[in-house]
Amino acid sequence: MLIIMRDHASQAEVDHVVERLREAGAEAHLSVGEVKTIIGVIGEREIIYALEMEGVAGVEEVVRVLKPYKLVSRDFQPEDTVIRVGTTTVGGGAFAMIAGPCSIESEEQLFSTARAVKAAGATMLRGGAYKPRSSPYAFQGMGLDGLKLLRAAGDEVGLPVVTEVLDVRDAEKVAEWADVLQVGARNMQNFMMLDELGTFRKPILLKRGLSATIEELLSAAEYVLKGGNRDLILCERGIRTFETYTRNTLDLAAVAALKALTHLPVIVDPSHATGRRELISPMCRASVATGADGLMVEVHIDPEHARCDGPQSLRPEEFSALVRDLAPLVTLEGRTFGGEA
Ligand code: PEP
Ligand code: MN
Repeated sequence: MLIIMRDHASQAEVDHVVERLREAGAEAHLSVGEVKTIIGVIGEREIIYALEMEGVAGVEEVVRVLKPYKLVSRDFQPEDTVIRVGTTTVGGGAFAMIAGPCSIESEEQLFSTARAVKAAGATMLRGGAYKPRSSPYAFQGMGLDGLKLLRAAGDEVGLPVVTEVLDVRDAEKVAEWADVLQVGARNMQNFMMLDELGTFRKPILLKRGLSATIEELLSAAEYVLKGGNRDLILCERGIRTFETYTRNTLDLAAVAALKALTHLPVIVDPSHATGRRELISPMCRASVATGADGLMVEVHIDPEHARCDGPQSLRPEEFSALVRDLAPLVTLEGRTFGGEA
C-alpha cells in the first residue's frame, strides 16, 4: 500500500501516519520528494487491508498496490534514484560506462586494462574475482588475491570498482574491497543473499536472471530495498531464447519497460547478452537510444588469450572507439558520462 501525503504535508502529519502504521505492526518506508512525501507500507496483507488511513490528517490518497514490489516502483518514488559511487554517479542523467575484464587474471592483465579503459573514458572498472562458471573445471577466478588487485588497480587509475559476490559467505569480504557489489544472473533469485545485501551500505548491481521476467527482476530488487539499501542498479544482460547465434537475446524492450516501472538506474551488458565482439557497438548504441543509464562492457588487453569470455571482449582500442562513437548519442539522450558536466 502507498500513502500519498498532501503537498507540503507537515512533519508532524507524516510522523503521525508513520506512528499509526508502526502501532498496527506495519513497516513504513518514506520517499521524501520536494513537494510530496509518499509512504510505502509493508507488512502482512491482512494488517494492511485492515488499516483505515483515508481521512487521517495530511493524507491525500491511499493506493492499494497489487504488484509484488512497491519500494522499487515509480509510484512510490517518481524521481530517478541517483547513486553516488566514490567520485562518480549513476542515474538521473548520469551515465555509467563500466569496463574491464571478465575475470581478473594477473596484475599485468588487470592494470594494463584498467589504465586503458580509464584513458578511454570509463567511469568504473569491473573485474571478476569469483567467477560463476558453467563447468567446475573452468577457471573459477583468483578470489581474495583478485579482489586486492582490483582495489589497487581502481585506486591507481582513479576508478571505483565493481565485482561479483558469488556466495553470501563472501559478501563481507567483497564489500571490504569493492565499491559496487554485483549479483550475477545466476544469483538473481538467491533470496538469502538479497536479504543480506539489503543490510549493506554499498551499491548493488543486480543482473537479470537467465530466464527471469521483468516482474521477477523487480521483485528481487525489492528484497534489497526492503532491507534498507536503496542503492541498486538493474542490469539487462540478455535472456535465454531459442536463438543460439548470439549467446543470449538482448531484451531492450525490458530496458524501456523498466525505466517506466522503476526509479532505479538501468544499465545494459551487451557482452554477455550477445557473446560476440562485433555486436557490442551496435547494441551499445541501441541501449543508449532506449534510455539506459549505463553500459557494462568486457575489455581485455589480449582477448585471444583471455581465460574467460575472450570472444566477446573488446580490445582497448576498440573500447576507446566505442566511447568516442557513443559520446554524441549520450549527450543527445540528455545524459553525461559519470554525471560530469
Ligand atoms: C559477469 O558480469 O561477470 C557475469 C558473470 O555475468 P552474468 O552474471 O550476467 O552471466
Ligand atoms: Mn564474462
